[in-house]
Amino acid sequence: MNLCSVCGAPVRPPYEPPAAELSPDLDFRQGEPARSTLKRWIAECSGCGAAAPDLTALSTESGEVVRSDPEYAAIRSQAPAFARPFLLWALICQRGDKQWGAAEALLQAAWSADDADEAEWAVAWRAQAAGLWPESKETRPRLCLIDIYRRAGDFPNAAAVAESLALSELDESSVAILDFQRRLVAARETGRQLLSSALRPPATRPHVSYKQKMAPRPGGFWHRLMGRG
Ligand SMILES: [Zn+2]
Repeated sequence: MNLCSVCGAPVRPPYEPPAAELSPDLDFRQGEPARSTLKRWIAECSGCGAAAPDLTALSTESGEVVRSDPEYAAIRSQAPAFARPFLLWALICQRGDKQWGAAEALLQAAWSADDADEAEWAVAWRAQAAGLWPESKETRPRLCLIDIYRRAGDFPNAAAVAESLALSELDESSVAILDFQRRLVAARETGRQLLSSALRPPATRPHVSYKQKMAPRPGGFWHRLMGRG
Protein backbone atom coordinates (compact mmCIF):
# COMPACT_ATOMS: atom_id res chain seq x y z
CA MET A 1 0.00 0.00 0.00
CA ASN A 2 1.17 3.54 -0.72
CA LEU A 3 1.38 5.71 2.37
CA CYS A 4 1.83 9.47 2.65
CA SER A 5 5.36 10.10 3.88
CA VAL A 6 4.17 13.09 5.92
CA CYS A 7 1.19 11.65 7.82
CA GLY A 8 0.99 7.93 6.93
CA ALA A 9 -2.45 8.07 5.33
CA PRO A 10 -3.09 5.75 2.36
CA VAL A 11 -2.51 7.59 -0.93
CA ARG A 12 -2.71 6.70 -4.59
CA PRO A 13 0.45 5.75 -6.49
CA PRO A 14 2.13 8.40 -8.66
CA TYR A 15 0.20 9.03 -11.88
CA GLU A 16 1.77 8.02 -15.18
CA PRO A 17 0.33 10.06 -18.04
CA PRO A 18 -0.16 8.30 -21.38
CA ALA A 19 2.34 9.14 -24.10
CA ALA A 20 1.43 12.20 -26.17
CA GLU A 21 0.38 11.52 -29.75
CA LEU A 22 -0.36 15.07 -30.89
CA SER A 23 1.98 18.04 -31.04
CA PRO A 24 2.94 19.83 -27.85
CA ASP A 25 2.39 23.56 -27.48
CA LEU A 26 5.27 25.97 -27.95
CA ASP A 27 5.81 25.88 -24.18
CA PHE A 28 6.11 22.07 -24.42
CA ARG A 29 2.79 21.32 -22.79
CA GLN A 30 2.17 17.81 -24.11
CA GLY A 31 -0.40 17.04 -26.77
CA GLU A 32 -3.31 14.68 -26.24
CA PRO A 33 -3.90 12.21 -24.76
CA ALA A 34 -1.37 13.33 -22.10
CA ARG A 35 -2.57 16.93 -22.14
CA SER A 36 -5.97 16.45 -20.56
CA THR A 37 -4.61 14.37 -17.69
CA LEU A 38 -2.95 17.46 -16.15
CA LYS A 39 -5.20 17.53 -13.10
CA ARG A 40 -3.96 14.10 -12.05
CA TRP A 41 -0.25 14.91 -12.10
CA ILE A 42 -0.03 16.24 -8.55
CA ALA A 43 -1.75 14.30 -5.78
CA GLU A 44 -3.04 15.88 -2.58
CA CYS A 45 -3.14 13.86 0.64
CA SER A 46 -6.59 13.82 2.20
CA GLY A 47 -4.96 13.30 5.60
CA CYS A 48 -2.50 16.19 5.88
CA GLY A 49 -2.88 18.26 2.72
CA ALA A 50 0.56 17.43 1.34
CA ALA A 51 0.82 17.85 -2.43
CA ALA A 52 3.37 16.10 -4.67
CA PRO A 53 3.66 13.96 -7.80
CA ASP A 54 4.64 11.16 -5.39
CA LEU A 55 3.23 11.55 -1.88
CA THR A 56 5.23 8.55 -0.65
CA ALA A 57 8.56 10.27 -1.31
CA LEU A 58 8.36 13.64 0.49
CA SER A 59 11.36 14.48 2.68
CA THR A 60 11.20 15.39 6.36
CA GLU A 61 11.88 19.02 5.41
CA SER A 62 8.98 18.98 2.95
CA GLY A 63 6.81 17.54 5.71
CA GLU A 64 7.69 20.54 7.87
CA VAL A 65 6.54 22.89 5.08
CA VAL A 66 3.24 21.00 4.86
CA ARG A 67 2.72 21.06 8.64
CA SER A 68 3.86 24.51 9.63
CA ASP A 69 4.67 26.90 6.77
CA PRO A 70 2.11 29.75 6.95
CA GLU A 71 2.33 30.28 3.20
CA TYR A 72 1.44 26.64 2.61
CA ALA A 73 -1.61 27.04 4.83
CA ALA A 74 -2.57 30.23 2.99
CA ILE A 75 -2.41 28.55 -0.41
CA ARG A 76 -4.45 25.61 0.90
CA SER A 77 -7.21 27.88 2.11
CA GLN A 78 -7.17 30.58 -0.58
CA ALA A 79 -5.95 29.23 -3.92
CA PRO A 80 -8.51 28.33 -6.59
CA ALA A 81 -9.14 24.57 -6.38
CA PHE A 82 -8.11 23.92 -9.99
CA ALA A 83 -4.57 25.16 -9.37
CA ARG A 84 -4.08 24.39 -5.68
CA PRO A 85 -2.01 21.16 -6.02
CA PHE A 86 0.43 22.82 -8.43
CA LEU A 87 0.86 25.89 -6.23
CA LEU A 88 1.38 23.77 -3.10
CA TRP A 89 3.95 21.59 -4.86
CA ALA A 90 5.66 24.71 -6.23
CA LEU A 91 6.06 26.04 -2.68
CA ILE A 92 7.43 22.71 -1.41
CA CYS A 93 9.97 22.73 -4.26
CA GLN A 94 10.89 26.34 -3.63
CA ARG A 95 11.44 25.78 0.10
CA GLY A 96 13.58 22.75 -0.77
CA ASP A 97 15.71 24.75 -3.23
CA LYS A 98 14.37 22.77 -6.17
CA GLN A 99 14.10 25.70 -8.50
CA TRP A 100 13.27 23.68 -11.62
CA GLY A 101 10.51 21.83 -9.83
CA ALA A 102 9.03 25.10 -8.59
CA ALA A 103 9.18 26.77 -12.01
CA GLU A 104 7.60 23.77 -13.74
CA ALA A 105 4.84 23.52 -11.14
CA LEU A 106 3.99 27.20 -11.65
CA LEU A 107 3.87 26.68 -15.40
CA GLN A 108 1.52 23.74 -14.79
CA ALA A 109 -0.61 26.03 -12.59
CA ALA A 110 -0.83 28.38 -15.58
CA TRP A 111 -1.92 25.46 -17.78
CA SER A 112 -4.61 24.58 -15.26
CA ALA A 113 -5.77 28.21 -15.45
CA ASP A 114 -5.86 27.95 -19.25
CA ASP A 115 -8.08 24.89 -18.91
CA ALA A 116 -10.34 26.72 -16.44
CA ASP A 117 -10.56 29.82 -18.70
CA GLU A 118 -8.97 31.92 -15.96
CA ALA A 119 -6.82 34.17 -18.12
CA GLU A 120 -5.65 36.53 -15.36
CA TRP A 121 -4.41 33.68 -13.21
CA ALA A 122 -2.71 32.14 -16.23
CA VAL A 123 -0.79 35.37 -16.84
CA ALA A 124 0.12 35.74 -13.16
CA TRP A 125 1.50 32.22 -12.83
CA ARG A 126 3.39 32.42 -16.12
CA ALA A 127 5.03 35.59 -14.84
CA GLN A 128 5.94 33.80 -11.59
CA ALA A 129 7.27 30.77 -13.47
CA ALA A 130 9.40 33.04 -15.65
CA GLY A 131 10.71 34.80 -12.53
CA LEU A 132 11.86 31.48 -11.07
CA TRP A 133 13.06 29.94 -14.37
CA PRO A 134 16.67 28.85 -13.78
CA GLU A 135 19.47 30.01 -16.04
CA SER A 136 20.17 27.33 -18.60
CA LYS A 137 22.56 26.76 -21.45
CA GLU A 138 20.22 24.20 -22.98
CA THR A 139 18.04 25.17 -25.91
CA ARG A 140 14.71 23.68 -24.88
CA PRO A 141 14.27 25.50 -21.54
CA ARG A 142 15.11 28.79 -23.21
CA LEU A 143 12.66 28.20 -26.07
CA CYS A 144 10.09 27.38 -23.41
CA LEU A 145 10.89 30.58 -21.50
CA ILE A 146 10.30 32.70 -24.61
CA ASP A 147 6.84 31.23 -24.86
CA ILE A 148 6.10 31.73 -21.17
CA TYR A 149 6.95 35.43 -21.48
CA ARG A 150 5.02 35.73 -24.74
CA ARG A 151 1.86 34.18 -23.33
CA ALA A 152 2.16 36.41 -20.26
CA GLY A 153 2.22 39.39 -22.64
CA ASP A 154 5.78 40.26 -21.59
CA PHE A 155 7.09 40.86 -25.11
CA PRO A 156 10.30 42.74 -24.17
CA ASN A 157 11.55 39.81 -22.07
CA ALA A 158 10.40 37.28 -24.68
CA ALA A 159 12.37 39.18 -27.31
CA ALA A 160 15.43 39.42 -25.04
CA VAL A 161 15.55 35.65 -24.48
CA ALA A 162 15.03 35.10 -28.21
CA GLU A 163 17.95 37.43 -28.96
CA SER A 164 20.25 35.62 -26.55
CA LEU A 165 19.27 32.27 -28.05
CA ALA A 166 19.76 33.47 -31.61
CA LEU A 167 23.47 33.77 -30.86
CA SER A 168 23.71 30.10 -29.86
CA GLU A 169 24.45 27.11 -32.04
CA LEU A 170 21.01 25.73 -32.85
CA ASP A 171 19.87 22.74 -34.84
CA GLU A 172 17.50 23.21 -37.79
CA SER A 173 14.32 22.52 -35.82
CA SER A 174 15.28 24.92 -33.04
CA VAL A 175 15.97 27.63 -35.60
CA ALA A 176 12.50 27.09 -37.07
CA ILE A 177 10.89 27.30 -33.62
CA LEU A 178 12.86 30.42 -32.74
CA ASP A 179 11.91 32.12 -36.02
CA PHE A 180 8.26 31.29 -35.42
CA GLN A 181 8.42 32.64 -31.87
CA ARG A 182 10.05 35.86 -32.98
CA ARG A 183 7.25 36.41 -35.49
CA LEU A 184 4.65 35.81 -32.79
CA VAL A 185 6.39 38.19 -30.42
CA ALA A 186 6.66 40.86 -33.13
CA ALA A 187 2.91 40.45 -33.78
CA ARG A 188 2.09 40.74 -30.03
CA GLU A 189 0.39 37.37 -30.22
CA THR A 190 -0.37 35.81 -26.82
CA GLY A 191 -2.47 32.78 -27.79
CA ARG A 192 -1.66 29.09 -27.56
CA GLN A 193 0.45 27.86 -30.47
CA LEU A 194 1.49 24.37 -31.48
CA LEU A 195 5.10 23.35 -31.90
CA SER A 196 4.05 21.63 -35.13
CA SER A 197 3.08 25.04 -36.55
CA ALA A 198 6.65 26.20 -36.08
CA LEU A 199 8.07 23.14 -37.77
CA ARG A 200 5.71 23.37 -40.72
CA PRO A 201 7.16 25.78 -43.28
CA PRO A 202 4.86 28.47 -44.70
CA ALA A 203 2.82 27.22 -47.67
CA THR A 204 4.52 29.74 -49.94
CA ARG A 205 7.91 28.13 -49.39
CA PRO A 206 8.85 26.66 -52.77
CA HIS A 207 10.90 23.62 -51.86
CA VAL A 208 8.62 20.65 -51.43
CA SER A 209 11.46 18.32 -50.55
CA TYR A 210 12.45 20.60 -47.67
CA LYS A 211 8.87 20.55 -46.45
CA GLN A 212 8.84 16.78 -46.42
CA LYS A 213 12.10 16.64 -44.59
CA MET A 214 10.74 18.91 -41.88
CA ALA A 215 7.48 17.00 -41.41
CA PRO A 216 7.28 15.72 -37.83
CA ARG A 217 7.17 11.96 -37.49
CA PRO A 218 7.18 9.46 -34.63
CA GLY A 219 10.57 9.28 -33.02
CA GLY A 220 11.37 12.69 -34.47
CA PHE A 221 12.07 16.06 -33.01
CA TRP A 222 9.27 16.57 -30.57
CA HIS A 223 9.44 13.04 -29.26
CA ARG A 224 13.02 13.84 -28.34
CA LEU A 225 11.85 17.10 -26.81
CA MET A 226 9.51 15.15 -24.61
CA GLY A 227 12.29 12.80 -23.62
CA ARG A 228 10.94 9.81 -25.51
CA GLY A 229 13.42 8.58 -28.00
ZN1 LIG B 1 -0.54 13.04 4.38
